[in-house]
Amino acid sequence: MSFASLGLHKILVNTVSERGYSSPTPIQKEAIPTILKDRDVMAGAQTGTGKTAAFALPILHRLLEQFDLDQTSDAGLANQKYKKVSALVLAPTRELAQQVYKSFATYSQGTSLQSVVVYGGASINPQINALNKGCDVLIATPGRLLELLMKNLVKLDGLKTLVLDEADRMLDMGFIVDIQRILTKIPKKRQTLFFSATFNQDIFALSKTLLNDPKLIEV
Ligand code: AMP
Repeated sequence: MSFASLGLHKILVNTVSERGYSSPTPIQKEAIPTILKDRDVMAGAQTGTGKTAAFALPILHRLLEQFDLDQTSDAGLANQKYKKVSALVLAPTRELAQQVYKSFATYSQGTSLQSVVVYGGASINPQINALNKGCDVLIATPGRLLELLMKNLVKLDGLKTLVLDEADRMLDMGFIVDIQRILTKIPKKRQTLFFSATFNQDIFALSKTLLNDPKLIEV
């Protein structure tokens, strides 16, 4: 099976091939077509399985398709100037957030799509400046995102996809209240992608409040 046969945009197919990915990993084979069909996903996947590309590629695919469509109308071109955050990835640590950001930046090379990463323990002003330049995909740790939301420095009313990466670690680190507060600030009608290395009662309880008829994927 190839990346092209998963239905991904040709720019993305070229990019992954240039990076030397010869075929999708098992989680990518299952998750990418499911995400492209707008379905929610609950995936059990460790780091190293290719889980980041499993959600990043279909998110970028959708943005590129919208971009291609917008090119054909004046209203669409105007929309591109005032882009809204379309996808949000929540990650438990600054390191993971930076890693996910790097993946999005790599996979969107050669496009005009913008990703921004925000996390605590670092000065907020450069993050605000980056957001103000326009952001399609926001990668964030929960505490810093909440701070930005409370100060009205970021808007998520155009959000279409929410990703929880390493949800088990986010719960272990006590982010549940922050996550619940973030959920009150984003559209209810959205796609949610839930990734966790392990599953327990708390994870299932959180996933139930977030997901709508998810496809379960375990690799
Ligand atoms: P992750 O599980 O997202 O942390 O990814 C682990 C590593 O696998 C990263 O360095 C990716 O660049 C790499 N990777 C992701 N997908 C593929 C693929 N289909 N073929 C080869 N390497 C990949």
